[in-house]
Amino acid sequence: MGRLAGKVALITGGARGQGAEEARLFALEGATVVVTDVLDDDGKQTASEIGAAATFHHHDVTSEADWTGIVESVLADFGRLDVLVNNAGILAIAPLVMTTEADYRRIIDVNQVGTFLGMKAVVPHMVERQQGSIINISSVAGLMGSPGMIAYGASKWAVRGMTKSVALEVAPFGVRVNSIHPGIIETPMLEEFERWGIMPQVMERVPVGRKAGTVEVAQLALYLASDDSAYSTGSEFVVDGGMTAG
Ligand code: NAD
Repeated sequence: MGRLAGKVALITGGARGQGAEEARLFALEGATVVVTDVLDDDGKQTASEIGAAATFHHHDVTSEADWTGIVESVLADFGRLDVLVNNAGILAIAPLVMTTEADYRRIIDVNQVGTFLGMKAVVPHMVERQQGSIINISSVAGLMGSPGMIAYGASKWAVRGMTKSVALEVAPFGVRVNSIHPGIIETPMLEEFERWGIMPQVMERVPVGRKAGTVEVAQLALYLASDDSAYSTGSEFVVDGGMTAG
């Protein structure tokens, strides 16, 4: 307990799934948590279940104006922002030739441009305070090829690369940037695999033979948010049940 005492954390896409779990765990560890999402009802419920340590704000990560507003609001309310988890993401599965340009651009916009805008919005404040941890949620799809996921894979490889580029820029100023690469995590996102009826084939690629619970990713995010990871920046942190080991 108390590993994030005194810190303020902003978690995008925090209404449900992994983001909500990170918000719960960070609050338990003493953080003030700002949950943001486009899903207002789920987001308000998640924040109210956490209690006084959490607030919810509507926030579309593809909008630079939304980013400016949320960061100004956090700094006005709490005077600091120590941790950003760029967690918001979308997945749509389709073979290359069935992927429309609009679908491709939408996934890049949320997963990649959203992460870019988030880092751009918080880095000036973190650099000024000479401290901060940015955690970008990529995927195993950002470490290897993933058939049927041209856009998602491109966006998650980009998140991995952007993480390293920004980490190098801000390391001299005490700000750290790392990526997390989850495998198969039990959240609503898996419905896309169910819709295509490919969950059994996907699970064949998981050596430990099971999906992960959201807390198994949240524990890694907690480590990266906390000062325990003070010497880690520009790195990939994989939580995938062995998927990328082979
Ligand atoms: P999820 O669908 O439950 O959560 C994603 C959240 O992002 C949702 O609450 C959604 O409303 C929000 N979101 C979508 N578009 C947004 C936007 N424009 N602005 C703000 N919020 C938006 O799925 P999850 O598994 O919790 O996903 C969290 C992250 O983990 C994503 O980046 C995802 O790509 C990544 N990931 C998930 C898995 C998995 O197996 N579930 C594996 C690897 C990586």
